[in-house]
Amino acid sequence: MPNPDLVLWDATLIDCRAPHPVEGMRITVRGGRIEQVDAAEGPPPPNAIDVAGRFVLPGLIDAHIHLADDPKMLEAAALPKPLQGEEPRPRELVYFALANAARAFLRAGVTTIRDVGCYDDNALVLREAIRLGLTEGPRILACGRIISATAPGGRIFNTMYEEGDGPWEMRSCVRKQLRRGADYIKVMAGGARSVDRENPEPAQLTREEMDALVDEAHRLGLRVAAHAEGLGAVRLAVEAGVDTIEHGLSLHRAPDLLDKMARNGIVLVPTLSTFHDVGERFANVFAPRLVEQAKRQREEAYRTLIAARDAGVTLAMGFDSGPPGRDALELVRMVEGGLSAHEGITAATAGSALALGLTDAGTIEQGKVADIVVLDGNPLVDITAFMQPEKIWMVVSAGRVAVAPPTHSPARGESIATGV
Ligand SMILES: [Zn+2]
Repeated sequence: MPNPDLVLWDATLIDCRAPHPVEGMRITVRGGRIEQVDAAEGPPPPNAIDVAGRFVLPGLIDAHIHLADDPKMLEAAALPKPLQGEEPRPRELVYFALANAARAFLRAGVTTIRDVGCYDDNALVLREAIRLGLTEGPRILACGRIISATAPGGRIFNTMYEEGDGPWEMRSCVRKQLRRGADYIKVMAGGARSVDRENPEPAQLTREEMDALVDEAHRLGLRVAAHAEGLGAVRLAVEAGVDTIEHGLSLHRAPDLLDKMARNGIVLVPTLSTFHDVGERFANVFAPRLVEQAKRQREEAYRTLIAARDAGVTLAMGFDSGPPGRDALELVRMVEGGLSAHEGITAATAGSALALGLTDAGTIEQGKVADIVVLDGNPLVDITAFMQPEKIWMVVSAGRVAVAPPTHSPARGESIATGV
């Protein structure tokens, strides 16, 4: 047997499978997968990376992100806007900005993202660029276009949407996304909080339309993620048997639906950060009615986070914000909102893997894809460790080292001050 590709030595493992960290472990990686997880005994083998007791976790999975080349979300990764009189920027420059975004995800330990809607097939293009080795980045699951009823949002989101009406058009919309290259289907069950002329409370599709969409997607082997904010939209989506509810902030008002989600394995992606965005961070650029609405929704979203946890609903982490690589802010907010750090980490790894329908990610376990983050700090004590670049000690993405350990990094018990 040739040498393994990578051996991590003396790891302190944290994942959803044990309530406490497991110390002194060896992780062997071969062919992009975790080959073995066992005790690190005796001296480390010559080529092993001694992580010296640092905290080793599954790569984070962001279950709700838009690769939407929006400068206010991309921040440093965005294209600078041309000054008046300058050459117009070629549209294709956006792909370089997206490549920057992809690297930013990896540097932050985000090894998988689910794009839930973007312009001009950005996510599909980036997914292919990464697959072909043209740029490095996380594993990407893309929905193609968001399927919506004919709605005001269609005028605002343009190529992000595929509009249709009636059950057969819903089936056709699903087929078009499969043709486009989608990994799963995203549907607007109700209106969006970011569109002034939409009401997020009621369902936007009829039951007949939603049933047809879910039937078509599932028959073709595609999962369905439903944008659903208000109770009318959430009820329609849950009863139609979608796989994930995106936002779902009103669910605390409907314990029967939370029960149904828990029983049927429907995952909730609470996206707390988006309500902070529309209600606070970007309050100066959104219509005043939407800002007020987002403030109310933020309160509801935090109540739903706890109600869903208590009802046994699987939670996933979805940032729905930016910039890329800042995703763990959503994890921090979930913990500030009342989840334990371990529950938060479980949501951001195994919970998100369930949301995406991935059976080969989300835990540090034999046979899984080798997506691994090594933290120089205990996230169970300080969950913000994920957001501190100097604490991201190492990142492995599908067995490849994406962030290498610092050349000199003090081992456990050594002090940085003495430099030993
Ligand atoms: Zn979103």
